[in-house]
Amino acid sequence: MAANATEAIINKRLNDFCLDSEIKLSASTADTSCCSGVHDHRTIDQSDFPPISEEARNFSERLLGQNKAWALKTEEERPGFFAKLEKQQKPQVLWIGCSDSRVPANQIVNLDPGEIFVHRNIANVVTHTDMNLLSVLEYAVDVLKVRHIIVCGHYGCGGVAASLTQKQIGIIDNWLRNIKDLYTIHRKKFEALPEGSREQQDLLTELNVIQSALNVCHTSIVQKAWSRGAELSIHGWCYRLSDGVIRNLGLCIEGPGNVEDVYHLTEDARAK
Ligand SMILES: [Zn+2]
Repeated sequence: MAANATEAIINKRLNDFCLDSEIKLSASTADTSCCSGVHDHRTIDQSDFPPISEEARNFSERLLGQNKAWALKTEEERPGFFAKLEKQQKPQVLWIGCSDSRVPANQIVNLDPGEIFVHRNIANVVTHTDMNLLSVLEYAVDVLKVRHIIVCGHYGCGGVAASLTQKQIGIIDNWLRNIKDLYTIHRKKFEALPEGSREQQDLLTELNVIQSALNVCHTSIVQKAWSRGAELSIHGWCYRLSDGVIRNLGLCIEGPGNVEDVYHLTEDARAK
């Protein structure tokens, strides 16, 4: 039954896709008096879909309504904004931050859509086996040719706080091992601070940002970019939830000169 239900939804979407194309083609004749054509006026027949609870329907309607209001307001204030955005993205920045809902990348540095390429995970960890992050990094550096990479942590990070405890949560325990490793490496620094204190959490937050930023520098992707003369700066920042202000941790690496030799590429590797 589940497979049939999935097929029904996919078939419905395939049929609607044709309808979407027809609507686009006939947009000039559509009644756009309420929205200047920002959104379509198609009424979706949901009879083939699984039943939806009132709560889920209200939720969708509220957010989709907010989206339309935002799109309209943006287009009114900046005519042609979306047409320009649709044609290309040329961000100068790759942002690697925490998934925390209180740290939205664009908003806290006051940049528009199209100006910042974003990767987020729990506690902004950069590891060399994360194919998701490496794919984002390679695309940002080699295709988009970003000029800056920012690793931004935040004080009060739940992932960092959990790393200082023996709490078992689930799969994420393994992810947070990367941060626990930092704690064990620098244990003496932590032992000098009150156990379970905010100071310990803040120190680990900052160390995690610094290590993650260094790990970005160590990747073959960044090493190769520097070898071919690309201008690429890696920054380490930390956001404070209590006042909305980002603190620059003073880490800005602009070339292989500040990275351990063992991570540098050989002549052969650079040519590849
Ligand atoms: Zn966090």
